[in-house]
Amino acid sequence: MTRYVFITGGVVSSLGKGIAAAALGALLQARGYAVKLRKLDPYLNVDPGTMSPTQHGEVFVTDDGAETDLDLGHYERFTGVHATQLDNATTGRIYSEVILRERKGDYLGATVQVIPHITDAIKDVILRGTESFDFVLIEIGGTVGDIESLPFLEAIRQLGNDLGPERSMFVHLTLVPYISSAGELKTKPTQHSVKELLNVGIQPKMLLCRCDRPIPDAERRKIAAFCNVRPEAVIPALDVPSIYWVPIRYHEQGMDREVLRHFGLPFEAAPDLSRWWNIVNAMDTAEGEVRIAIVGKYTNLLDSYKSLAEALTHGGIANRVRVQIDWVDSEEFEKPSAVQRLEDVHGILVAPGFGERGTPGKIEAVRFARERRVPFFGICFGMQMAVIEAARNLGGLPEASSTEFGPCKHPVVGLVTEWSRGNQVERRTETDDKGGTMRLGAYPAVLEAGSLVRSLYGDKASINERHRHRYEVNVNYRQMLEATGLRFCGMSPDGELPEIIELPGHPWFVGVQYHPELKSKPFDPHPLFAAFIGAAVRQARLV
Ligand code: GLN
Repeated sequence: MTRYVFITGGVVSSLGKGIAAAALGALLQARGYAVKLRKLDPYLNVDPGTMSPTQHGEVFVTDDGAETDLDLGHYERFTGVHATQLDNATTGRIYSEVILRERKGDYLGATVQVIPHITDAIKDVILRGTESFDFVLIEIGGTVGDIESLPFLEAIRQLGNDLGPERSMFVHLTLVPYISSAGELKTKPTQHSVKELLNVGIQPKMLLCRCDRPIPDAERRKIAAFCNVRPEAVIPALDVPSIYWVPIRYHEQGMDREVLRHFGLPFEAAPDLSRWWNIVNAMDTAEGEVRIAIVGKYTNLLDSYKSLAEALTHGGIANRVRVQIDWVDSEEFEKPSAVQRLEDVHGILVAPGFGERGTPGKIEAVRFARERRVPFFGICFGMQMAVIEAARNLGGLPEASSTEFGPCKHPVVGLVTEWSRGNQVERRTETDDKGGTMRLGAYPAVLEAGSLVRSLYGDKASINERHRHRYEVNVNYRQMLEATGLRFCGMSPDGELPEIIELPGHPWFVGVQYHPELKSKPFDPHPLFAAFIGAAVRQARLV
């Protein structure tokens, strides 16, 4: 029997609803249940792929090529269960599906309305393909009280009725602020938020209360009484030093026990949390610190490189060191000799990105890493920058560039209009729609025997990694680029698309066209991030 837990948020955004959902998933998994997490987002974009990372944070890409909300990254990092196209839907996607069906005449003359047509489509999205799981956790994006979220709340209210309490549960995340002038924790915002939910017919069965200090018993009971929730199901959610503490702390407060109790499932036996203890112990006992510069364009909103920052943390866990990230805006590097800022870092990572702005600084950062022999990791755009740097500064082609920035004499990075995926040919053109038309999702790469990268992947001949880009390193320049010292050590199976470059003789210099950060887990750090941090440890002379 599949059970559905709906997670809503109130009071303010950014309380960590995605992490709360992911942590509950991890706890249920630690008790042996099969879990699936799914997110519904109330905005009108069909997917977040067209949104600036500074607006909405990173776009998380799934194996099957969906561009999704960054919370799906948390779900994967906490449960190891890979998300699919079905696991993130927006208002935009749901309306466009309903409107498409209306045009086809599928509604047989009916007036098409939010209730029941949109709500039915939402219910369908929630239930689709979930039969084999014990628990499906559905996070509703946004904050209750938003106009946009109403159809979603109505749909889950109806589902609560359709499924009954034995198969559904509502969990609500709120904030309990401390007001310093009064010296008190305030429960009123939580009460109001629950009232908002009651207005749309939803009675939460559990409250997760974010708070910067312990919530005294009297306050906990007060929240329970006013919000009509069992006191044991008012779960304090205190700030933690790392998000990987969250499953442990939620468990200590009784989160998984209360969910199982609600469903009438046994809860006496303790879950196996050894995975989470190993992670937090590795972080707590880390010795020494390495500093990694992330050179990018969207450094003013940390969420824009969420998976990257997490993957670096995982690399730290693998090496038992702390990783301190120095976020560097590449435009800063356009000032003469500003690269000196990189003097005291132990690794330089040039981040994914789009558009010409900020690229001269990224190219300078690559040059600094290459010449000064600082461990370098170029990801997607970062690998393209490394190729341009080599062509310009070593290959004697000062006009080498990417056609992403307009026509150029030496397009060492260019648009490839056709490529194969299995037996299928996929195509794109310069004028295609911007949404969903990049090379997206998992593609194989063949690794060259004897290369550093192949050894890091445990000597595998072929790997599968996730992509999200429109341009490719131009294979026609391979010979010229290899003459500069770069080695093309990973290629698409047809040999047309360069996937990985390395620079033999340099302490650690790797560029990848894909996004390894998307598959890294705290309990299974990605080999390239583990090795990059390992090289930074050597650079810092910590070993
Ligand atoms: N802008 C580059 C491209 O589209 C790189 C994209 C990225 O870094 N994800 O190919």
